[in-house]
Amino acid sequence: MRTAIYPGSFDPLTNGHLDVVQRAAKLFDRVIVAVAKNEGKNPLFPLRERVALVKKSVAHLPNVEADSFDSLLVQYVVSRKAQVIVRGLRAVSDFEFEFQLALMNRKLNESIETIFMMPKDTYTFLSSRIVKEIARLGGDVRGFVPGPVQAALAKKFST
Ligand code: ADP
Repeated sequence: MRTAIYPGSFDPLTNGHLDVVQRAAKLFDRVIVAVAKNEGKNPLFPLRERVALVKKSVAHLPNVEADSFDSLLVQYVVSRKAQVIVRGLRAVSDFEFEFQLALMNRKLNESIETIFMMPKDTYTFLSSRIVKEIARLGGDVRGFVPGPVQAALAKKFST
């Protein structure tokens, strides 16, 4: 059983993330989208809500599940009996940070492999931060996020 962990803040999940999840689901027997607690990043959505939004958004993918973690990523990967970490690469700007993270995780546990997946080109400009900014200013985020996330953003910013 090949299991991949796709870790991130997912504050909130975007269609770019979902595109990566869908690609990974074709390559692995099981994909776990693991939402990092990341309180330090001052998330807009609390952990439980971020996990619930992932769960709703991946409901159509039978080999994908949602979970959360608050430990060292490599420890979490081992605890879930997974072998692979999946990360998304949008542009060169992602590369330096992702490269550093992948090599550090390899240092911490040599048996875990990190693989990178590129989303469909129309999603390469998408980030959770930009989506939140558009929603906060009353813009239309349809096409950028899954339906459940769109509803949650509308609720969050309705006055
Ligand atoms: P983190 O705080 O760990 O960077 P994010 O939720 O922002 O968490 O992103 C999780 C992963 O998904 C990262 O590898 C990031 O590069 C990737 N990612 C973010 N947005 C997109 C997108 N639009 N398309 C593909 N990958 C993405």
